Amino acid sequence: MQKLTIYFVLCSYALLGVFMLSFIILSRFEKEYKALKRALLILVIYIIILFLLSFLPDSIFYLLTVLVLMVLFLIVLNFGNKNIEFNLPENRFDERDVMFSRNTLIKGTDKFEEYYKNRPENKIADDNFRKEPGLLAKGAALYNELLFTAAKATFSSVNLLQPLVSRESNALQTKLSEKEIETFIRKWAIQLGAADIGFTRIKPHHIYSHIGRGEDYGQKVVLNHKYAIAFTVEMNHESMTFNPRGPVIVESAQQYLNAGTIAVQLAEFLRNLGFEARAHIDANYRLICPIVAQDAGLGTIGRMGLLITPKLGPRVRIGLVSTNLELTASEEPIDKSVIHFCEVCKKCATNCPSQSIPHTSVKKVNQPKRWQINHDTCFNYWCKTGTDCGRCIAVCPYGHPDHFMHNFIRWMIKRNPINRWFAIKLDDYFYGKKPRSAKLKNWMLARNS
Ligand code: SF4
Ligand code: SF4
Repeated sequence: MQKLTIYFVLCSYALLGVFMLSFIILSRFEKEYKALKRALLILVIYIIILFLLSFLPDSIFYLLTVLVLMVLFLIVLNFGNKNIEFNLPENRFDERDVMFSRNTLIKGTDKFEEYYKNRPENKIADDNFRKEPGLLAKGAALYNELLFTAAKATFSSVNLLQPLVSRESNALQTKLSEKEIETFIRKWAIQLGAADIGFTRIKPHHIYSHIGRGEDYGQKVVLNHKYAIAFTVEMNHESMTFNPRGPVIVESAQQYLNAGTIAVQLAEFLRNLGFEARAHIDANYRLICPIVAQDAGLGTIGRMGLLITPKLGPRVRIGLVSTNLELTASEEPIDKSVIHFCEVCKKCATNCPSQSIPHTSVKKVNQPKRWQINHDTCFNYWCKTGTDCGRCIAVCPYGHPDHFMHNFIRWMIKRNPINRWFAIKLDDYFYGKKPRSAKLKNWMLARNS
């Protein structure tokens, strides 16, 4: 029995050592050199402690082991996840109030005058961002001819998808069952590059009240589809480490393109089978992406106002397709542990260069409880730098790559408040409270700009 106990104890300590070693190796692959060095230091201290422990009397060794096991037991415990009320929003959101829509208004046009007649409260903020060079503009603080031109090229490619967004469907409907089609869509979307996919019934607050971009600007949104397919595509982890510089907007554009391509493929597929379907892609949305994706069970909207997904955190772009095909709506409850974690974490708020993310507790905005960032100051920063920043996404502890080590921490976060506190401390220790941005690589440098 005593022999067995010794084996068990030794195996536990060896397992912990292997865990640390794996973290070191994975940090090397993630190019997280700070985390790598700090984990190495811990491993060395750990080995020294184990060595010293071997000189202590058995009784103290066992006592310490019991303490370690108690800590491990605490990690597994599920408590302190108090309920949060998620009420439905009272009003529909007008897309004309979105910064991207306001950015398209041209001084002296009727559209411009009418908008600010109805929304005088937005005039000062908008006059301020109009004084700046603008997104992807020459003269912006982080202007880089190579990267900005690459991002523009990708956004132009997204535009080529616009004619495929909404088209007539086949008059003849397939005999395939809804279940068969649904299963196929799930598998196919993943094969096309989606990270996750879910379905939801479309609710009134998912739909914009008025169109804010394109030829139909100002018209009321009419969308009779009952269901939405929501999916996410991953934003490259390394690209985000260059925040707030050009590689971030190059990556954003790329994932808008990837999400757009998958969305039009799915929509076209459904139309060919005889169902109505509309893709919702960059600059042509009728549905509000994060809210639909949250209801489709893909994640929870966190402090930074973006969808925090279970395996990639906010490091995703969302694609949507609405349809009249009957789908099995997600019954996945909203993960309240994300809200509890965001309450204490605040890393995005601390790191936001324009202080646009609130440090306050979650509160009711248009009825449901959520955080709301200051879009005016965030967009103003984008217009100054010329990029879409992405610092909040890059520093979020949920956004580390999808592998067993980080997934274990994400699982811990769900369990209890002690784990959440510990996860924040670990993240700060390994990656820094204010993680440094990576330097641009040689091939990204535009020397003449
Ligand atoms: S950085 Fe922290 S507070 Fe901000 S969204 Fe991520 S988990 Fe929430
Ligand atoms: S994108 Fe940048 S400026 Fe905007 S909220 Fe995130 S960190 Fe702040």
